[in-house]
Amino acid sequence: MGCIDNKTTPANGSSDRDFNAFDVMEPRLPLRTPVDRRNGRNVKDNDIPPEGVYLPNNNFLAPHMQSPEYVQLSTAAAITLGVMGGRMYGCECTRCLNLLLTYPEGCRANCAYCGLARHREADRDYADRNFIRVDWPAVPMAEIVDIVAKDPHASQFHRMCISMITHPRSEEDTFTVLKQWTDRIDPEAIPVSILSNPTTMTRADVQKTRDLGADIFTVALDAATPEIFDRTRGKGVQSPHKWSKYWEILEDARDIFGPQKFGAHIIVGMGETEYEVLDLVQKLVDLGGHSHMFCFFPEQGSLMDHLPATPRDQWRRVQLARYLIDYRDVRVEQMRFDELGRVVDYGIPEHELSSIIDEGIAFRTSGCPGKFRDDISACDRPYGDSPPSDIASYPFQPKKKDLKKIRRELDIPVRVE
Ligand code: SF4
Repeated sequence: MGCIDNKTTPANGSSDRDFNAFDVMEPRLPLRTPVDRRNGRNVKDNDIPPEGVYLPNNNFLAPHMQSPEYVQLSTAAAITLGVMGGRMYGCECTRCLNLLLTYPEGCRANCAYCGLARHREADRDYADRNFIRVDWPAVPMAEIVDIVAKDPHASQFHRMCISMITHPRSEEDTFTVLKQWTDRIDPEAIPVSILSNPTTMTRADVQKTRDLGADIFTVALDAATPEIFDRTRGKGVQSPHKWSKYWEILEDARDIFGPQKFGAHIIVGMGETEYEVLDLVQKLVDLGGHSHMFCFFPEQGSLMDHLPATPRDQWRRVQLARYLIDYRDVRVEQMRFDELGRVVDYGIPEHELSSIIDEGIAFRTSGCPGKFRDDISACDRPYGDSPPSDIASYPFQPKKKDLKKIRRELDIPVRVE
């Protein structure tokens, strides 16, 4: 029986500053991929037929699997679904069935922080790459649907999410996977989110996901500013993404899906200031949407794996302030920031702030909601942005000892009752 690896922060992953500044967070440049490794060529040449579930392990001969017949799913989702053995620290299951389209050519973008980026084809077949710290087994989509369709109302999953990647077939295959799901599983029982790839999408594509039964549409903006976007996912790393195109599709999603049904993913700690990221959070709320936050972690094999993970104090301040803006009607203008853009005042009375900290929800993983309450995400991504030994986003309700640690990280003393 396996378990999610306790991949610790690398030795170089600490910083003596209490935030990740822009000048520090420079990705390295991608190297050229040898011709015989480009575009999944060796997987296609070997042409090994897949047989059921494939567990990534940097296998010498990865089978030739592709969407829409195959999808990858997070280790947590595979364990919860029962197609893989294992256990997760602190939680018995995940509430979100995260699916990822898969192709021998892999993702054709080159985002600097991402384990799926194109430059990795030089040393790993696509199906063997890690993504947000964990492995993603590949499973036939029909098998996943068969398991969940037996009794969707009794399923542990509160939501399903299809993550697109940058690939010429990404849209068509997303539609096929979505339809395969909604044909057999009532979207009222398990609603579906789309994590989109705007670069290859049109407004009509966004509309089609809605027509096929998707409930929420999100855009993986990831970078908090246009400069960081360009440096980590655009020209800076020979990647095709553009900030303006991401915003175009985000605005299409707002028009088509409506309030509270769209949002953006943001990674905290890639060089933006706390003010910049919280100003973006406010902008999304003003548009009617939500932000889903990730703490930057130097993904092994990525172009940023030599850089420090986001210091916990920076992350906790942003987590708390983002929760106040997203769910407690506090505005960024009410907060105060120091000359380095760090939060120094959350804009509400101390006793209110204390109660919100003690409630703990602000420090849980953020994402699309499940069935418990609007501010508790179904998408709990266990240990997707930190090791269990130093949790960034809590995939479970933080306990007393966790809250004490969080208060220390926030530099807000424990209350004496
Ligand atoms: S588009 Fe998404 S999957 Fe592809 S490299 Fe960028 S972040 Fe990774």
